[in-house]
Amino acid sequence: MLPVSEIRDQFPIYKNKKDLIYLDSASTTQKPQKVIDALAEYYSSYNANVHRALYEIGDIATNEYEGVRNIVRKFFNVPDTHEIIFTSGTTESINLVAYSWGMNSLNEDKGVLITEMEHHSNLVPWQIVTEKTSSPLKYISINRDGTLDLTNLNSLLENSGIVAVVHQSNVFGTINPIREIIDAAKSKNIITLVDGAQAAPHFPVDISKIDCDFYTFSGHKMIGPTGAGVLIGRKSLLEDMNPFMGGGEMINMVELEKSSWNEVPWKFEAGTPNIAQVIGLGEGLNFLSEIGMQKIKEHEDFLLKYALEALSEIDGIKLYGDPALRGAVVPFNIDNIHSHDLAKFVDTDNICIRAGHHCAQPIMNALGISSSARASFYIYNDTQDIDLLIKSIKKTVKIFS
Ligand code: PMP
Repeated sequence: MLPVSEIRDQFPIYKNKKDLIYLDSASTTQKPQKVIDALAEYYSSYNANVHRALYEIGDIATNEYEGVRNIVRKFFNVPDTHEIIFTSGTTESINLVAYSWGMNSLNEDKGVLITEMEHHSNLVPWQIVTEKTSSPLKYISINRDGTLDLTNLNSLLENSGIVAVVHQSNVFGTINPIREIIDAAKSKNIITLVDGAQAAPHFPVDISKIDCDFYTFSGHKMIGPTGAGVLIGRKSLLEDMNPFMGGGEMINMVELEKSSWNEVPWKFEAGTPNIAQVIGLGEGLNFLSEIGMQKIKEHEDFLLKYALEALSEIDGIKLYGDPALRGAVVPFNIDNIHSHDLAKFVDTDNICIRAGHHCAQPIMNALGISSSARASFYIYNDTQDIDLLIKSIKKTVKIFS
């Protein structure tokens, strides 16, 4: 177990909301003082735009902002900082690829392969772009245990230009066999995108080993501020792609009739970026590195096992998915209690869990349900949080019976 009380001391929300039991980190994580300070320091000590200001505080802002690319490079073992694009988060990163790569590369014979397990942000952009390009959109289906059905992978890959897959499911916690999918795709020269929104915060991710073409994550799910995320892309592909948005900074030269583009990654960072948030993201990644991603994984594995055992003893509970390889995300429903009611009742004990379709309606459809409750765990959670959740659920069950 990680030293949870020491870690909590560094998260001011635990001082300001003394009884908080936060079990919704798959949605967004809490922020340590260091991250909050990094934002405040930028605004209060060296607030200036990046890349353009010819004065000292502008240089500091540029160095701090650009320095985060190197923090990301080391954290994820990315070959080159030019392959790291700052976006507002996973949603923007996937839209960038869907539009910039997809609009030029997809056609009637070359479509998109995703899975039924995707968050809407790795599904809706592809629906939009495949419709615009009249290209096929196919799905890898899911098994009832929350794993992917890869039996037809090779035939599904036919006529696909890109396969885009979630690394860890935000509903089941399943850690998908992305190497197997990437290898199969590469053998057919198919581009690969991995949605790492739920993986990057929870276990070591080595981009050089994964060897996908695109990898995305959101800083706010890994103790960073909202508004800062990353798209990691293979440099040769990024260089061939058209920009996603036009504006300041992404250009090399502008004439009235035409423009030429800046080199990557700046070609994809039009306008004033989320400077403070990116700097805060760097601080968050340093914080997680100091703890160690492998230790974080072990801590979460322990909590997951504890939670599954304790939850399975509750009368009328249905736990969804049971993949052997999974992260600390537990979806469930309780007989005769709507997940929204459950979330509201446990909230009266200051317990935050998620309830709803988790932005993954196709999963809910595959399971034949409209919603579920979901508890998810992170570095500041311990077994006492789980005990209190169980107590509160049991109390709710009594009220409803
Ligand atoms: N993919 C997955 C698997 C997610 O869990 C989420 C957020 N819940 C997203 C993508 C979208 O992330 P964001 O809202 O930060 O863009």
